[in-house]
Amino acid sequence: MRTDKLLANTGYGSRKEVKKLLKKGGFTVNGEVVKDGKVHVDPEKDTIEVFGEPVKYKEFVYLLMNKPKGYVSATEDAKEKTVIDLLEPEEVLFQPFPVGRLDKDTTGLLLLTNDGKLAHQLTSPKKKVDKTYLVHLDAPVSQVDIDALESGVTLDDGYKTKPATIDLVDPEDLTVVKITIQEGKFHQVKRMFITTGNKVIDLKRERMGSLYLDPHLERGSYRELTGLELAKLQ
Ligand code: URA
Repeated sequence: MRTDKLLANTGYGSRKEVKKLLKKGGFTVNGEVVKDGKVHVDPEKDTIEVFGEPVKYKEFVYLLMNKPKGYVSATEDAKEKTVIDLLEPEEVLFQPFPVGRLDKDTTGLLLLTNDGKLAHQLTSPKKKVDKTYLVHLDAPVSQVDIDALESGVTLDDGYKTKPATIDLVDPEDLTVVKITIQEGKFHQVKRMFITTGNKVIDLKRERMGSLYLDPHLERGSYRELTGLELAKLQ
């Protein structure tokens, strides 16, 4: 692993700050000063110190983002802004990727990590992880729609959705509901409501398994998962 990546991953600051630290000669590998961020080190084998203090390396990063509209949930895109553009360089060094997809105009909970195993656990259909969305609709839902959506509807490509749960948010306003699904087909929630002759006008993910969107997180901002959040997810 590159020295600058290792230092950023261990909390020694942004890429710029790490560069400064290296220049100062405070970083040693097996007792030798390393000033070039491109030099590779092995955190498993080498003795790595910053001003004589051993470096505690962390391999993974787990970020809980409140995704804003206008960003695609991908690591790269030729035309669009991606959720990675919202991260600080010290997080980008970890090469995190979004766990599951949210549409460009969908907001809310997005987990970004470089932990492929956890990402797989959360997105594999076999694991049946609940995803809950707050949905604003063009027209009120009827009980017939709710029953159909809960038992499974046939999408435009012939796919029959697995059982879902619909919860009313306010019995006086049937244009706002919460839907919980355990799958993640392309535009699934929007396409499910289309089958009932309705249209999703706003979509926000609030939950993924045991992980909830933090109400204190502004749109476009993110924070690291707490130890408890991570332990519950794993
Ligand atoms: N379903 C959708 O239609 N869009 C999303 O972004 C997520 C689920």
